[in-house]
Amino acid sequence: MDLAQKTVFELSELLQKGSCAPEDVLRSVAEAIRTKDGAVHAYVDFDPERYLKRWKKMPKTSSRLWGIPFAVKDNLCVRGEEITCASKILKNFISPYHATVIEKLEEKGAIVFGRTNMDEFAFGSSCETSCYGPTRNPWDLERVPGGSSGGSAAAVANDTAVFALGTDTGGSVRQPASFCGVTGIKPTYSRVSRYGLIAFASSLDQIGPLTKDVRDMALVLEAAAGHDPRDSTSADVPVPRYSDFLGRDVKGMKIGIPKEYFQKGLHGLHGDVEEAILKAVKVLEGLGISVEEVSLPLTHYAINVYYIVAPSEASSNLARFDGVRFGRRSEVPSGMLDMYERTRGEGFGAEAKRRIILGTFSLSSGYYDAYYLKAMKVRTKIMQDFNAAFQKVDALITPTSPTAAFKLGEKMNDPLEMYLSDIYTISANLAAIPALSVPCGFSNEGLPIGLQFLGKHFDEAALLNLAYAFEQSTDFHRRTP
Ligand code: GLN
Repeated sequence: MDLAQKTVFELSELLQKGSCAPEDVLRSVAEAIRTKDGAVHAYVDFDPERYLKRWKKMPKTSSRLWGIPFAVKDNLCVRGEEITCASKILKNFISPYHATVIEKLEEKGAIVFGRTNMDEFAFGSSCETSCYGPTRNPWDLERVPGGSSGGSAAAVANDTAVFALGTDTGGSVRQPASFCGVTGIKPTYSRVSRYGLIAFASSLDQIGPLTKDVRDMALVLEAAAGHDPRDSTSADVPVPRYSDFLGRDVKGMKIGIPKEYFQKGLHGLHGDVEEAILKAVKVLEGLGISVEEVSLPLTHYAINVYYIVAPSEASSNLARFDGVRFGRRSEVPSGMLDMYERTRGEGFGAEAKRRIILGTFSLSSGYYDAYYLKAMKVRTKIMQDFNAAFQKVDALITPTSPTAAFKLGEKMNDPLEMYLSDIYTISANLAAIPALSVPCGFSNEGLPIGLQFLGKHFDEAALLNLAYAFEQSTDFHRRTP
């Protein structure tokens, strides 16, 4: 088997024994990108040779990540590399420093190897709003890989990345993981430092890994997480060695299944997705886990709340891209105001403009109380819904997305329809709880379906162990496009 197809864990066994060297892994991934990425387009502006040249031998450590290459979503700063958030407005902007998460992974000996495509500024669920053009789903090239971390998910699924980093504001790690048949986690808000992540919605954003299986997810997360004084929202909570928790007995654990998520017609839940989830319930019950119905009564407000809070924060975060400090500036403006207007008018795509307008409106004087403040109050209620559910059960399971991957172009002209594909993922960001997606079946058309586990704040260890137990009893994660 080709090295690029192996997991972090498998590669680390070989690297530690000296059966292969980091250069061999890098060359194998570079070759996979050269031969397989043309059709999928998971990477943007990627020249493996330049990365190979830049790479310097590092002293060997005993870390499982030593010598492992990984791909990085185009909104995370890597010193000396271009970072654009797939937006024309940031073209040619070179990152002056490393994001904390990059620093941490490099400390362990992991190697940055390529930037992946995304929706512009992470606004989207299909990877179609990128200024580089869309990424395609390796399972069916006519379909989207999901978004916004579609490039990262597609690279892992296509075996052109061993693992990849994504970011999740409303589902952008989990939904593409589900569409591409890989594993992805959004940790508890504040678990992974956001320093060096170009902000979309600061109170919702989290960085999370996309991997080939749950063990890899645990290995990457334990290296990436932890307190960072440079991110004032980062939590000073010790990081357990998540990989040590895998394989612990799950018998007697209790899982809740929110009844609102399965209400007929409400969320466009497809029959084959529902069936796959019900089969997953049987698998979990077979492991001695009790699965019971719980209620999250405010579920149907999640999308409404998110599309007030997220665009509001985005409009404020994107105000800094004005042609003065970062990225491109319009040519020969006639004055300062003209320079702002033309830089932003030419630089942002349609979805970014839509979000800026929505957000500016909800934050404007006279509307702030009616929209933003009201949404924040409902957000607290949604959080309380989850807290009440977690009084009764250890974790929740839901579909990750109501459908499998849809066709390219299918939802581009209907933003509301596109927004609905995050119905099951958004609440976890609003409630700041950890959530992950693992492959759990295939649609009638042979496309991957994802199962989402949601847990209590900072309880990633239990969540990973549950997902691991499920994965060990199934083989969906081993199938490849
Ligand atoms: N699809 C959602 C949105 O468009 C979530 C995106 C994300 O998590 N970055 O906002």
